[in-house]
Amino acid sequence: MTAQANIQNSVPTVKLLIGGKLVESTTSHWRDVVNPATQEVLARVPFATTEEMNAAVASAKEAFKTWRKTPIGARARIFLKYQQLIRENIKELAAILTAEQGKTLPDAEGDVFRGLEVVEHAASIGNLQLGELANNVAGGVDTYTLLQPLGVCAGITPFNFPAMIPLWMFPMAIATGNTFVLKPSEQDPMVTMRLAELAMEAGVPPGVLNVIHGGVDAVNLICDHPDIKAVSFVGSTKVGTHVYNRATQNGKRAQCMMGAKNHAIVLPDANKSQTLNNLLGAAFGAAGQRCMALPVVILVGEAQSWLPELIEKTKTLKISGGAEPGTDIGPVVSCSALDRIGSLIAKGIGEGATLELDGRNPEVAGYAQGNFVGPTIFSGVTTDMSIYREEIFGPVLCVLHADTLNDAIALINANPNGNGTALFTRSGAAARHFQEEIDVGQVGINVPIPVPVPLFSFSGSRASKLGDLGPYGKQVVQFYTQTKTVTQRWFDEDEVSGAVNTTITLK
Ligand code: NAD
Repeated sequence: MTAQANIQNSVPTVKLLIGGKLVESTTSHWRDVVNPATQEVLARVPFATTEEMNAAVASAKEAFKTWRKTPIGARARIFLKYQQLIRENIKELAAILTAEQGKTLPDAEGDVFRGLEVVEHAASIGNLQLGELANNVAGGVDTYTLLQPLGVCAGITPFNFPAMIPLWMFPMAIATGNTFVLKPSEQDPMVTMRLAELAMEAGVPPGVLNVIHGGVDAVNLICDHPDIKAVSFVGSTKVGTHVYNRATQNGKRAQCMMGAKNHAIVLPDANKSQTLNNLLGAAFGAAGQRCMALPVVILVGEAQSWLPELIEKTKTLKISGGAEPGTDIGPVVSCSALDRIGSLIAKGIGEGATLELDGRNPEVAGYAQGNFVGPTIFSGVTTDMSIYREEIFGPVLCVLHADTLNDAIALINANPNGNGTALFTRSGAAARHFQEEIDVGQVGINVPIPVPVPLFSFSGSRASKLGDLGPYGKQVVQFYTQTKTVTQRWFDEDEVSGAVNTTITLK
């Protein structure tokens, strides 16, 4: 055996989950899972073979036969247990997440926690999956609806929330009586696998949750497989559009939450220090790798004079490994993400924006190999520049100016994306005007990252979303169920048969 092979054998492998068992893939195609702060190889993840992926779907199909009839209370109790297990293991989950993804430990705990909230919501499925009944819609006739599970459903998730987004998907799909095949991001699948193990420990029966790993082939198999009825996707606009088209052409339900370019508007009457703190957190937190980050700020009128203070505050942010206490900005996920961000910053300079703060090539003590880019601020940005048009997905803030609130609203509405936006003001009238006129699905009023809790649903709009229902909350119960409407009449035994009725009305 070669030295290289020995090193490879000492690195743990990420397993598949098929039929309730953790399975070592037989594939010859593997990828390293790398700590972005150090380049340490943490594990190797397989690109599952077609046979393995088909086996995962087959096990989900088989499990559906009994799971669909499992009493709703029994399903709910599994999620009560599951939320407890996630709470008990949240430190371990966050540590795995930070190691493979790079975000800070507190942010990693937040990632798990926002998913945990969906698990808690899944535990109240008894109230969520209720049908409706109308009594006496005609003489002696009642009509009622059943919300029945679809069958095998599937989820495809991105790298940036490897705990929260898988938890957006499989708990609600399973709680509503479906079985599930999950394909996590191949960049950071380890925390997702730990969550899948805890789901099994909580009592999810074998075959009800399956996990496959891979890339394009796995995604295409999910879109094409005739036994998969619905696909939930979160990721980039390019891949999401492909998934939506391919899955729906194959007759499946699909919902795709995709890319973003979220703007904040700052009015001069806003609370200045709160606003600047919120902007920093939303633009640079998680190294800008959030679909609800605020990579664009529009300073309106007098608020344009706040730029120097914004820059000075930004300089105080600490860049380091995500596991280091006090870190504000960890590494970006990969070397290729770092290169991409660097080339977009270079384009910004080339296209004439003013680089107010250059975060490239920061010195990070103890992490010489990490994928670090510090907070970067451009002013003088115009809407035709690449740094405005493209999703940078790094800690880069573009500052624009507008004379009035209406000018700023028009600018946002002209951008194709509609994931999130925020307004900072002390004026109730301005806030209400903004709420009414802005064409974006998730709106924050003095709230920088307005991701709804699961009592509501994630509701990005326009180019940030395909499909009409959101990924969690009440809307997803509709996504994962088929409404069956039953109209019934019962005859008394001694009722005398009337004339044959050839009209279509019930009386
Ligand atoms: P991505 O689109 O590259 O990957 C998402 C999934 O698609 C992964 O599982 C990946 O394996 C798979 N994939 C990648 N390339 C593929 C291809 N060519 N064909 C088929 N499948 C492919 O996204 P990412 O880089 O992991 O995540 C970041 C993106 O996700 C950003 O655009 C961000 O805005 C978006 N995002 C959106 C939301 C939202 O709710 N709107 C939430 C989180 C992330």
